[in-house]
Amino acid sequence: MYISITKTTHPGTLLPSDQLGFGIHYTDHMFIMDYSDEKGWYDPRIVPFQNISLSPAACVFHYGAEVFEGLKAYRRPDGEVQLFRPWDNMERMKNSAIRLGLPVVPPEDALEAVKALVKVDERWVPSDPGTSLYIRPFLYGTDAKLGLHGVHTAQFIIILSPVGSYFDNGMEPVKIIVETEDVRAIRGGTGEAKCGGNYGASNRAGERAFANGYSQVLWLDGVEHKYVEEGGGMNVVFKINGRIITPMLTGSILPGVTRRSCLQLFEDWGMPVEERLISVDELFEAAANGTLEEAMCVGTAAVICPIGELTYEGKAYTINNFQTGPLAQKLYDTLTGIQWGTQPDPHGWTCKV
Ligand SMILES: *Cc1c(COP(=O)(O)O)cnc(C)c1O
Repeated sequence: MYISITKTTHPGTLLPSDQLGFGIHYTDHMFIMDYSDEKGWYDPRIVPFQNISLSPAACVFHYGAEVFEGLKAYRRPDGEVQLFRPWDNMERMKNSAIRLGLPVVPPEDALEAVKALVKVDERWVPSDPGTSLYIRPFLYGTDAKLGLHGVHTAQFIIILSPVGSYFDNGMEPVKIIVETEDVRAIRGGTGEAKCGGNYGASNRAGERAFANGYSQVLWLDGVEHKYVEEGGGMNVVFKINGRIITPMLTGSILPGVTRRSCLQLFEDWGMPVEERLISVDELFEAAANGTLEEAMCVGTAAVICPIGELTYEGKAYTINNFQTGPLAQKLYDTLTGIQWGTQPDPHGWTCKV
């Protein structure tokens, strides 16, 4: 794929890492590529970061024709920049696009575009501990027709955001509430696709939780409201009475790259994992009788986020004295060690840019 590059004439000023926040600041450039049924994907280009212009009738605005990805580039101690399992993200974007009826960006082209853009904006990859460059590829339909006739024109864009440590003091346990009214996804719906529409459906519950002092919700399955599925934008892992349990991928859960990596690490460590249905009753029985040793959310943004308090139907339970547990700590240290290149990478998960 030949990618044309137009450099900005106004390069931005790098910010000190304590002012980065998460997903607020953007780099100098973006990648963009167009699609039509006739031409396929065409005109891949890196251009100065800029606004986009679309017809107000574009189907992305009316019918939610959008999918996205989220991954990071990390500054290694030797100064080089690397990505973490980017193939998995590009493969997932393909699956998401198929589910939404959007044209597929060939995963190898998407990865080439990510690498090319990160290379152009390499100076934006921060180096302080816990910082990284968040990469947001997204794909949407642009057909300017209000009739429902599928997607025949589309755009694929990648933007980059230097991000700080998700938490100020390493890992901070958070408070989470089980959502009992709204549902995020159902089997056969779009729960296993990474699409903006899922977040549209989640916003109300997320904001309600936030207003009440919780950092996010824990979703239950959409049919029986009985089985635990995942957190707001992160998968979940529990340790109950010495056993590690994570909800199985039923079709309504997002298959996280971090989740998959944790499962591999558990295997490496000889720790058996139960990937199965876990009911909210089982979880809260364990919380009540003290056998819920650890609970955590896992995802690219925060890596590992210990759950210090869980609330369900008005009852709050503290987990592990609101402290980061040894399992969460070990996962965090190992994953971040591999991601930032300070630890060996036995599974070949990283890839230099
Ligand atoms: C992105 C996302 C995750 C986490 O996936 P990772 O690949 O680990 O970042 C989990 N749940 C939802 C709903 C997501 O959108």
